Amino acid sequence: MYLTCSPVDTLTFRNRKYFIKRDDLLHAEFNGNKARKFYWYLTNDFPRIKRVVSYGGSQSNAMLALSALAKLKNWRFTYYVKPLARHLKKYPRGNFQAAMHHGMQTVETDAFVFGEFAEDTLFIPQGGAEQAAEPGVKLLAREIVEFAETAQLPELSVFLPSGTGATALYLQKHLPYPVFTTPCAGDRLYLQNMMRQLEADESLHPSLLDTDKKYYFGKLYREFFDLWRALKHETGMEFDLLYDPKGWLAMLAHLAELGTNILYVHCGGLTGNASMLPRYERRLRNN
Ligand SMILES: *Cc1c(COP(=O)(O)O)cnc(C)c1O
Repeated sequence: MYLTCSPVDTLTFRNRKYFIKRDDLLHAEFNGNKARKFYWYLTNDFPRIKRVVSYGGSQSNAMLALSALAKLKNWRFTYYVKPLARHLKKYPRGNFQAAMHHGMQTVETDAFVFGEFAEDTLFIPQGGAEQAAEPGVKLLAREIVEFAETAQLPELSVFLPSGTGATALYLQKHLPYPVFTTPCAGDRLYLQNMMRQLEADESLHPSLLDTDKKYYFGKLYREFFDLWRALKHETGMEFDLLYDPKGWLAMLAHLAELGTNILYVHCGGLTGNASMLPRYERRLRNN
């Protein structure tokens, strides 16, 4: 039911070759970097735990992964969200629909403020940005090292887009190759701050690459959609519409710094495209 090692594919985009770590293929519903971040919970026993609680956006990839984890573990899953749009409640789609299908219970709230939870409750911070994410990401790092050694690559640069930065941070911590990332949810300072909370030693942090233009998380940009569609068209591979367009934009803008061999970590998130695509279609039709 769960791949323990994801394959590495190659693709050629605009006359350049990339290695793609296919973490989107780990499992139908528990995949991407969220599967890595929650791997520790998946593979350990928590006899006292009956319920998992988290919070964040109504289409979050972490929410979907937690709903799948809770189902596999036979835990209840309570998810705190900002008041939901009436339309979404009436016509659930994307990650929200899939998570509801897994039995997620939502609590709508204006402010994410939490006290102590009961002993049978596991609390997971937004996006899974916590030290428990390290063991699973360390495994991902080991797989990348094995790949690079088998392929006998003399050098390698690893790239992935960041939300909380936990994945990029723990990858850099456990990889002998440079890891590059770009902030998607918030700016460079936000990302540095998030990473510092998990690892004070900044020499262990990944390198941050920016785009010239400032982008806001979850907002729609024509250049994002065009690049996403060009990637799909030219390579046949589908990427996520929330993080990957900014990721590819930033990476393409800094190719000279990345060297010959680039491995892009496909962090999953494809279920979320079911809600992003109609938004893009509505937006681009009206422009
Ligand atoms: C969550 C996510 C990220 C960012 O992961 P962080 O560890 O929060 O930085 C990137 N890409 C996809 C598809 C994601 O779901």
